[in-house]
Amino acid sequence: MNFVTCSYKNEEFVGIENSGYITAVNDILAAAEEKNICSMLELIDAFSLDSGLYTRLERTDLSRFNSLSLREVQLKAPIPYPRRNIFCLGKNYAAHANEVQATKLSGSGIPTSPVYFTKTAMPALEHGGEIRYYASATQQVDYEAELAVIIGKQGINIKPEDAEEYIFGYTILNDVSARDLQVKHEQWFKGKNLDTFCPMGPVIVYKNDIPFPVKLDITCHVNGILRQNDNTKSFIFDLPYIISDLSKGLTLYPGDIISTGTPAGVGAGAKPPRFLNDGDKVECTIEKIGTLTNIVKVIY
Ligand code: MG
Repeated sequence: MNFVTCSYKNEEFVGIENSGYITAVNDILAAAEEKNICSMLELIDAFSLDSGLYTRLERTDLSRFNSLSLREVQLKAPIPYPRRNIFCLGKNYAAHANEVQATKLSGSGIPTSPVYFTKTAMPALEHGGEIRYYASATQQVDYEAELAVIIGKQGINIKPEDAEEYIFGYTILNDVSARDLQVKHEQWFKGKNLDTFCPMGPVIVYKNDIPFPVKLDITCHVNGILRQNDNTKSFIFDLPYIISDLSKGLTLYPGDIISTGTPAGVGAGAKPPRFLNDGDKVECTIEKIGTLTNIVKVIY
């Protein structure tokens, strides 16, 4: 089941997307005289409190309800305003760790523990939205296609074997990065957090639709040219390890997002480097989830 956040006639709602058509979750809940849900975070909370909700939605005959085509609505990022920063992993594919070893971004090679940092989304950028950046701030903007995991249940000190139980679903995140700022500041915060640097979506795929452990092809194309191409089975730290390790002494909450790192092929790793330019079309694709497309807009 695919969940989306979208707006229609300026009203934002959460929907189930099926073959290009969207049914509002609230239409289904209202017919069953159930409580209204106003956002994806409320939906995830409702799932965490009510183990039967998924089954009730899944058994619903969507043809009984009005639907809107994807062309009629404006898609938003699935979680436009996460409750807190997105947890991100740096260097979680060996080939990517190797390609950046030669750059000034990171010199220590393949990590022996996960490299964590965080990313803000105020808001997260929707599928189709413009990655806008000021040329006065950076001249080295880069893409990073990533699988993002949405947490569905509160937990601390989660055991690796229980990790899947804490997942709500999966989406695509482009960890857009200003490489010159990452190097200049000797850490990654601002370089990862300029406005619009967190494209996410277009959908959240509920976990039941993706076998665990996840083995999904992941690619990034820029202007139709393949730049990144790998599979999430290449993770250095897999999801059970990440969820278990991150939750040691740190409570994870429903709606938290963990972005799992990017494969080799980023612009900074090329010789010579090739960064994004005005008008570039960036397409991040993950098998079973879809394609997250954004256009770069430079502000001079
Ligand atoms: Mg990244």
